[in-house]
Amino acid sequence: MNIPDLLALNARKFPDQEALITPECRLDWASLHEQSLLLAAHLRTAYGISPQDRVALFMPNGYAWVLGYFAVLNLGAVVVPINARLAPAELDYILRDCGASLVLGCAEQYLTLAPLLSESRPGLNLDDLTKLLPHWTRKHTLEAIEPSAPCTLLYTSGTTGKPKGVLFNHINLLTVANTTAVEMDVRPDSRLLHMMPLTHSAPLHVFLLGGTYVGAAHIVLPEFTPTLLLDTVERERTTHFFGAPVAYLLTAQQPDIAQRDLSSMTCWVYGGGPLSAEQVELIRQRMGTEQLFCVYGLTEAGPSGSLMKPAEHKIKAGSIGCRGALHTELRLIDDAGHPIAGEGTGQIQIRTAATMLGYWNKPEATAECLHADGWLNSGDVARRDADGYYWVLARKKELIISGGVNIYPREIESALEQHPAIAEVAVIGVPHAEWGETVKACVVLREPLDDCAQILRTYLQPLLADYKIPRLFSQHSALPRNANGKVMKHQL
Ligand code: ATP
Repeated sequence: MNIPDLLALNARKFPDQEALITPECRLDWASLHEQSLLLAAHLRTAYGISPQDRVALFMPNGYAWVLGYFAVLNLGAVVVPINARLAPAELDYILRDCGASLVLGCAEQYLTLAPLLSESRPGLNLDDLTKLLPHWTRKHTLEAIEPSAPCTLLYTSGTTGKPKGVLFNHINLLTVANTTAVEMDVRPDSRLLHMMPLTHSAPLHVFLLGGTYVGAAHIVLPEFTPTLLLDTVERERTTHFFGAPVAYLLTAQQPDIAQRDLSSMTCWVYGGGPLSAEQVELIRQRMGTEQLFCVYGLTEAGPSGSLMKPAEHKIKAGSIGCRGALHTELRLIDDAGHPIAGEGTGQIQIRTAATMLGYWNKPEATAECLHADGWLNSGDVARRDADGYYWVLARKKELIISGGVNIYPREIESALEQHPAIAEVAVIGVPHAEWGETVKACVVLREPLDDCAQILRTYLQPLLADYKIPRLFSQHSALPRNANGKVMKHQL
């Protein structure tokens, strides 16, 4: 099987069943499949796109995005989804790095895109697709595509450095899709709500392909706001949602949350960052749900990793669970690379058939994290407790080393998150002449605090060892976040 086969299968099995609902369209599986073949034929005849050419997608979530995505895959080409909010220099870097032959865009993004286009790298504006499609009568007939053929190049969001292209084949992605379908009980009558940018691995592979795997319906919206989420759940009777932790925190704070009918939802998935036990409790109470699923993973792993089911949240909220998701193994290694048995602290390694083929044109970077036996370094430091549950403490690159002692930002963030005046917090290490690094807390306050640093330090004293208590505090109106809601600590 490859992804175009899956689409064709859905069109045969569920021709009249809803496949894609966006502000612009409501399409069934037969129409989505047919339109993706028409667009594929146009890309082949008008732009000469051939198997393995890279075709970039630079636009917000929507009808054109999903159609463009499947059309490129139908051709056996490699789709390169690019976050629509990137600045020209960032976009230019990715287009050059991947050697894109064509960029699919829309009017909103064309101002950014136009100066970067050339004869060898043209662009196609996919706005008004519904007007264009009737003129494209020739359909692309599916040619054989090997499941092992590369099909997607996803750029990491660069929260820890310059973005790197992560290359996947159909087998990798169908592995993730199968995992979602089984672990989150996605069925042909499920209705998945997409509000996070489809340019990231979890929204795209876990969710868009997870639903496509079984022929479920996709409700795709261009952005997230708590009100839009709640309105759409009620109107479309959606069953599954994936969001960053911050999306849940914002939704739980909605004043009318108790009056909302969220009874259709069977699966609220969060991941990409942590939620503390207190935050999970707040969300459970305010949103009136027991159906919280935690996923942990990284782009390079598909993003397969661990999965924690709703019942486990009652005892281990704040952790990422105790096992690899379906098809996935998890373990901890020490600094020498030896597996740690039982309780301990070390780096998480992941092994799964969903793991990337490698970084695009970066064999050294690939060899640094992906080992010949299939284990992938996550770059995350975690503690495994006596019950086998993993608690992420820090990304290795964000670990603070002060006076030779390791300090894990997550531990300090969790303690500060419990203070009633704090809305958001990120803890970072800053250079220090004597200690190498010292701890700094960047906070967003709910209410003003006179002498904030002193009050928070006093608050932390009974909770944390002295060397972990931030020496520096800074106040912010908001933390810098990427499109996926993740705090960009390097900017802080
Ligand atoms: P870059 O890799 O360029 O820095 P990025 O942060 O967006 O970009 P991702 O692969 O999306 O890259 O992020 C993966 C990381 O997110 C993991 O390594 C881990 O640090 C963090 N993460 C993911 N899920 C969770 C979770 N459930 N709890 C805690 N941390 C998580």
